[in-house]
Amino acid sequence: MVGLGGMAMGSESGGMGAAASGGLGGNPLFHAGFGLMLMGTGLALARNAGGKVFAEVQRRAFATLEVTSKDPGYKWILQWIRDRGGNSRHLSLETKFRSFENGRVETEFTYVPAVGAHFLSYRGAWFKVTRAREKEMVDLTSGSPWESVVLTTRNRNRHLFGELLNEAKQMSLKQEAGKTVIYTALMTEWKVFGNPRRRRPLNSVMLAGTTAQKLVDDVTEFSSSAKWYVDRGIPFRRGYLLHGPPGCGKTSFIMALAGHLEYNVCILNLNDKGLTDDRLNHLMAVLPPHSIVLLEDIDAAFVKRDPRVERYSQSVSFSGLLNMLDGAASTERRLVFMTTNHIELLDPALMRPGRVDVIEYIGQASEDQARNLFLKFFDNETQLAAEFGKIMGSEPLASMAQLQGYLMLYKKSPPGAVKYAPRFRDALKSH
Ligand code: ADP
Repeated sequence: MVGLGGMAMGSESGGMGAAASGGLGGNPLFHAGFGLMLMGTGLALARNAGGKVFAEVQRRAFATLEVTSKDPGYKWILQWIRDRGGNSRHLSLETKFRSFENGRVETEFTYVPAVGAHFLSYRGAWFKVTRAREKEMVDLTSGSPWESVVLTTRNRNRHLFGELLNEAKQMSLKQEAGKTVIYTALMTEWKVFGNPRRRRPLNSVMLAGTTAQKLVDDVTEFSSSAKWYVDRGIPFRRGYLLHGPPGCGKTSFIMALAGHLEYNVCILNLNDKGLTDDRLNHLMAVLPPHSIVLLEDIDAAFVKRDPRVERYSQSVSFSGLLNMLDGAASTERRLVFMTTNHIELLDPALMRPGRVDVIEYIGQASEDQARNLFLKFFDNETQLAAEFGKIMGSEPLASMAQLQGYLMLYKKSPPGAVKYAPRFRDALKSH
C-alpha cells in the first residue's frame, strides 16, 4: 500500500493557505516549475522568519505523498520518474548480479533517479520529487537501506497523485507485458531481478525428440486442473527435475517454458548462506502470483558438505528442502523446477512422487538438434546442416552450448563449419 504519509489536507481558502495559494495563483508568473521554485524561495524565507510559520505554510500550501521502499508502488514511481526524464542527468546505477555454481555470473544494470530532489511537470502541474535514503534505518526483512520518495505539489493539484500513481503502475505493467519477470530471494522477500526479460521463444531451445512437447503438455494440463486437485484434496503442486550435462538447455528451456505459459520465475539458490529452513518456508508462502520456482544445481547444495559445518551454518537443511517440496496444501498452484548435472548424487527421498513428479533427461546434442542449430545459424543450408548433424550428432558428444560456441567461429563460412566439424568432434572425444 502506498502510505499517504504527509498528505497535507489544509484548506486552500483559509488563513495562510489562502494567502499562499489564492494570492499567488493569480500571478501570471506563478506557473509550473518557476512557480514552485518561487514558492520554495518564499518558504525558505518563511523558514528563516520562524519555524512555526514555515510549517504552517507548508502544511497548507503543499500536498505531499510519501511512498516507501517497502511499497510495491516504489519501483513504479522510480521508473516513472526516470522515463519522464525528471532530472535525467542525475541517475544512480543499480547493479544486480547472481552467481552460479559453475562460476557464471549474470549482471543486470538499471538506472534509477539518484537520491536527491528532482523536478518534473505532470498534467500542467509541477512536482518536486525527493528520493531519500536513511543512513541509519535498515529494512529488517531485506537488509537494504530504508528509502522513500516524497512527491510534493501544490495543494490544489493533489488529486493528480492518484492519476500519477495509476499511470506509473500502468507503465510498469506495460513494460512487463510479453516479458518474464525474474525474482530472486533477498532475506524473506522476493525481489525483482533486473529488468523483465523478453520471452525466449520456446522453439529456440531445441531439445531431443518430443521432450519439449511432453513438458509443455504436462505443465499445461497441470495448470488447468485446479478443480481436480481441490476436489480430491490433493495438494495442487507439481515438481519437475531436468537432469543432464551442463550447457544442454535445462535452464534455457525452463525460462522459455515460463515465458510460453506466461509465468514469472522465482530463482532460489539453496547454497545461499542466509537462507534458513524458516526463511525457505516463508518464501514459499509469499511467492509472487503465477510463478515457477526454479532450484538450480540442486545436487550442489547437499553433497560434499562437511556435516560439522552444516550443523553450524545458516543454510537450508535437506529436511528443510523436503518440507518445502511437500509444502502445505494450497489453492494457489505450485510449480517447482529443479535442475542437476548429477542425478546420481541426489538422495532418493528427493525424487519421491509428490516432490518430483516428472524427471527428464536433457542430454548432449542429437543429430536433429545439431542440424537444427546449424539451420538457426545458416537459414537455407539444408544440405550442409544435414552433414553437420551427422558428424556431430550420430554419436552425441557436444552440448548445445558447445556447438553454439563452435558455430560462432564459422558464422561467415558454413562450409568451414562442416569441414572442421570432425576435428572438433575428435577434440571433444579425447577431452
Ligand atoms: P544448462 O542449464 O543445461 O546448463 P543452459 O540452458 O544454461 O544449459 O544453456 C547454456 C547456453 O547454451 C544458453 O546460452 C543456451 O542458449 C545454449 N543452449 C543450451 N542448450 C540449448 C538448446 N537445447 N537449444 C538451444 N540453445 C541451447
